[in-house]
Amino acid sequence: MPSTFNIALLPGDGIGPDVTAEAVKVLRAVEPLLSDVRFEMTEHAVGVAEYLENGNPLPEKAIEACRQSDAVLLGAMGLPSVRWPDGKEMTPQIDLREIFSLYNGVRPIYLYHSEDTSLKGYGPGEIDFVIVRESTEGLFSARLSQSDPEKGEVCDVMRITRLGTERVCRAAFELARTRRKKCALVDKANVLPSMVFMRKVFDEVAKEFPDVETDHIYVDAAALFLVQRPDRFDVIVTENMFGDILSDLAAGLVGGMGMAPSGDIGDDCGIFQPSHGSAPDIAGKGIANPIATILSVALLLDWLDHEETRRGAVMIRQAVAKVLSVPSNRTADLGGIVSTSQMGDLIAAAISS
Ligand code: ATP
Repeated sequence: MPSTFNIALLPGDGIGPDVTAEAVKVLRAVEPLLSDVRFEMTEHAVGVAEYLENGNPLPEKAIEACRQSDAVLLGAMGLPSVRWPDGKEMTPQIDLREIFSLYNGVRPIYLYHSEDTSLKGYGPGEIDFVIVRESTEGLFSARLSQSDPEKGEVCDVMRITRLGTERVCRAAFELARTRRKKCALVDKANVLPSMVFMRKVFDEVAKEFPDVETDHIYVDAAALFLVQRPDRFDVIVTENMFGDILSDLAAGLVGGMGMAPSGDIGDDCGIFQPSHGSAPDIAGKGIANPIATILSVALLLDWLDHEETRRGAVMIRQAVAKVLSVPSNRTADLGGIVSTSQMGDLIAAAISS
């Protein structure tokens, strides 16, 4: 009996459908090479188009499909031009993190080719770290609070809980154990009481992992060190908003948003998506880089935690490395002329060969 994995597909808005189609293409290229593994993929409408049609960007049907699936592959959601009546942008991808308690935001940063970084002297694999972004609380927890601008003051609260910090730190230490065994907390413990608390809990969890080397870095210094010496990092764990900002900076070190995959992982649900948003400036032009989404499929296959799917994840990363070893194989964001679908074809062909 083959193992069948049900994958819910949420292509979403902007470039979401374009990059998701290429990721599915690559997954279909991997599938026949795996022994006794099948993928059942079902697409669900979410995002701004769904809101405009039915009034809800995240229908209950799609939430239920995510709950029933073995893993979710998401493209991108939200468009600045379509907002709630109060003026806020729609962010169903953040709602999903909260609905399913996807506290462990895994964002690997890996340099495939020296030409794709603006830093001097870094070759393939010489920038290789993971940002673990706490994804259910922190400064983002203020996002749904009501405010009255007439009062002349608005406050956003940075919410840090023991439970939230313990679970994300444990996930980061466990990840570090599978890598170079280094885990750094990025905080602002010199200024904010919530960050002093986060550091205290991090240090307590660290005692469970005596084989992992720890470090504490203030977020401003982390921004500097990431640019000056990215090779010093292995696993970074941080609060939600700091992780949001630093993961864009980090993506910039390896070619930009089109190269940055992510997984939002909870205790029993995993949603995988590129770190980038819906990029309306390039939507519909066929020029988006699908590699971040394709590498998110590799994360998804790792997370399914089956010997064969893990082998599939390795195949995808090797195929991306092989394709990018040829300098002309580049989409527009990396200075080339390869289209979104051509990049998907190249990677799928590298897998099949
Ligand atoms: P969000 O807040 O939803 O994450 P954002 O406002 O940060 O979105 P993105 O959609 O991530 O914006 O895009 C930021 C920039 O990166 C845009 O100029 C966009 O063109 C570029 N970009 C994002 N994703 C890709 C991609 N896959 N390929 C090429 N360029 C991209």
